[in-house]
Amino acid sequence: MLDILKSNKIFKYIYFILPISFILIPTTNGCMSGVSKYNVVEVDCRKNSVIEKVPNTPGIITRTSFCNDYMFEKNALSLAIKLFVKEYADYFEIKEEDVWNSLSGLEIEVSVIPKTVHAAYDVNGKFLKGDVPVNGLALSKHHIWVEAKTSQIWSSSLVHELVHIIIWRKNKVHGDPDHEGKEFSGWSKDHTSFIKEMNNILLEMDI
Ligand SMILES: [Zn+2]
Repeated sequence: MLDILKSNKIFKYIYFILPISFILIPTTNGCMSGVSKYNVVEVDCRKNSVIEKVPNTPGIITRTSFCNDYMFEKNALSLAIKLFVKEYADYFEIKEEDVWNSLSGLEIEVSVIPKTVHAAYDVNGKFLKGDVPVNGLALSKHHIWVEAKTSQIWSSSLVHELVHIIIWRKNKVHGDPDHEGKEFSGWSKDHTSFIKEMNNILLEMDI
């Protein structure tokens, strides 16, 4: 009798647990596959910090342009940079340590507010004048600005700007603003191809 009661209780327990699990499992799977993962987060300087150290990097920091703005979630940004360093080292056959050195102390400014500049080069080196909309800028060899366009990092110009920084720190005087153009040196077709491949890796990983 006691055993029957016990098993009845267990049955009830299972009965109540199962429907809940059915609700929980799809949500968990959703998070793991990145369907509902947001790598861009809203911040407000009146409530939380708008400057963050990027974990597991050599002094890289990230901040927003404005008090109420959006930034890359710091752990997702850390992972994106780690993957970038590994892939860049592989692609250009250099040591990962050297890539890390080229990015040390970098300030990554992020905003959802777009910018325009008076002049810029496109990726083929064509000089554009007037109010040119940009989605990223290498402002100095220590500072980049990146527009957060969606909830994912791959769709931003982060990878593109990191390549400018590596070239800038190697060349010392410029980050090759005209990309594949002939006026400045440093940027090759390989850099353009690498950026496409790298962004695809981030896309596949939902970063
Ligand atoms: Zn550029």
